[in-house]
Amino acid sequence: MNKAVRIVDIFRQESTFQGTDVMVHGWVRTRRDSKAGVSFVELNDGSCLKNLQVVLERDRPETATLADRLTTGSAVQIRGILIPSPGKGQSIELLARDIVLFGWADPARYPLQKKRHSFEFLRTIGHLRPRTNTLGAVARIRNRLSFAIHTFFQQEGFFYIHTPIITTSDCEGAGEVFRVTTLDPTRAGPALDEGVFQEDFFQKPTFLTVSGQLQAEIYALALGKVYTFGPTFRAENSNTSRHLAEFWMIEPEMAFADLNDDLALAQRLMHFVVSDLLETASDDLQFFARFVEPSLLDSLETVAQQPFEVITYSEAVDLLKKADEAFAFPVEWGADLQSEHERYLTEKKFRKPVAVIDFPRDLKPFYMRVNDDGKTVAAMDVLVPRVGEIIGGSQREERREVLLEQMRRKGISPEAYAWYVELREFGSAPHCGFGLGLERLVQFVTGLGNIREVIPFPRTPGHADF
Ligand code: ATP
Ligand code: MN
Repeated sequence: MNKAVRIVDIFRQESTFQGTDVMVHGWVRTRRDSKAGVSFVELNDGSCLKNLQVVLERDRPETATLADRLTTGSAVQIRGILIPSPGKGQSIELLARDIVLFGWADPARYPLQKKRHSFEFLRTIGHLRPRTNTLGAVARIRNRLSFAIHTFFQQEGFFYIHTPIITTSDCEGAGEVFRVTTLDPTRAGPALDEGVFQEDFFQKPTFLTVSGQLQAEIYALALGKVYTFGPTFRAENSNTSRHLAEFWMIEPEMAFADLNDDLALAQRLMHFVVSDLLETASDDLQFFARFVEPSLLDSLETVAQQPFEVITYSEAVDLLKKADEAFAFPVEWGADLQSEHERYLTEKKFRKPVAVIDFPRDLKPFYMRVNDDGKTVAAMDVLVPRVGEIIGGSQREERREVLLEQMRRKGISPEAYAWYVELREFGSAPHCGFGLGLERLVQFVTGLGNIREVIPFPRTPGHADF
């Protein structure tokens, strides 16, 4: 059974395969029966967007009966000879000689018939939706992006480290965490005081990680350049098209580096992965350009080549105030940039990725390095068209006294982060890093508007299916 060739390999080396005997496996996308006694099956095995055309002679009663059973969605094994195709749309086709029908799909019940289905509907059939062109292409693109991300960091001398998924620190000091506990909720006491956790698995409160950054800092201050690439959890109760409760984040962290190095790294990473995708995934990208976002390839070329526009938060506020736009949220120095503001800057004002740096210190977490003005921190948000924020990063506060002052201001107890403070006592060094959301990146490169379509099994408020 495992001698089958993948359809993508046939298309990649058509001339080598012409005239040879092959075996393929896959799922029937469509079948058309001609009056001349021939059936044409479009076969897809998931290895690429394109289907292989299979030609079946209905010359005997048995072959005609079998051909009739090859309904949309059926799983088959087909042996035959690859021949030049006289038809339009393909240059090679498979003349079937031997067919095994592994699993028939009842046309009265199989939901993926040949027509366009809404993304909402496809979400309800998460067990079947990867067999659609869109979700198949997303899965291949996620795979390639992940590979390119690892390749990039490995080439740059970064070490891939594994930070914990169960943590005791809530990285941002924000409350949006999932609790991890073995306590029985039906027996929970009235108050969640510390005493309750004596009986819990870890004998203290624990959570799913919201970021591997703090632990990555430990390793950066030992190995120099490191990165994590793992699942991240945020219990944000926001039903937006850009937020998931479970997503994948890439977090590089490097020692002996400042915000300019951080910006340069983010830019090289984006150039590398987008160029790689343009080279290796052109069929899938063209599919998205055709059916989802007409300007897709242009905007990807821009990102692959052009440097980011870098502006300070204060400059961004000035630009937004001057903009001839009716924003729903007012723009004031000290207020967070809303999605509409981010998109104005990257889509209308600059029409390319924009890095906004030096945010007010009160807007950002305690670990970001305080700038000399005392009012801002060395933060950066990278904004891209259609998505808004794709990367958030900063230079970290490496000065113990300033860090303690930041913690005081934000009401974070230094005892809870004793090890983090201690890293500033023993061989502290300037260091920086950022977080890139894989799903936001997939949204950007596919043009898909809703983040629920770019992860196999989306987790959002009220939804944890499959
Ligand atoms: P946002 O302002 O968009 O909610 P954030 O500022 O909370 O994001 P960071 O903490 O800076 O996000 O996280 C780094 C990156 O992780 C973001 O730039 C984004 O790409 C991604 N990200 C953050 N939250 C989510 C989420 N809930 N779902 C998917 N990706 C996310
Ligand atoms: Mn951010």
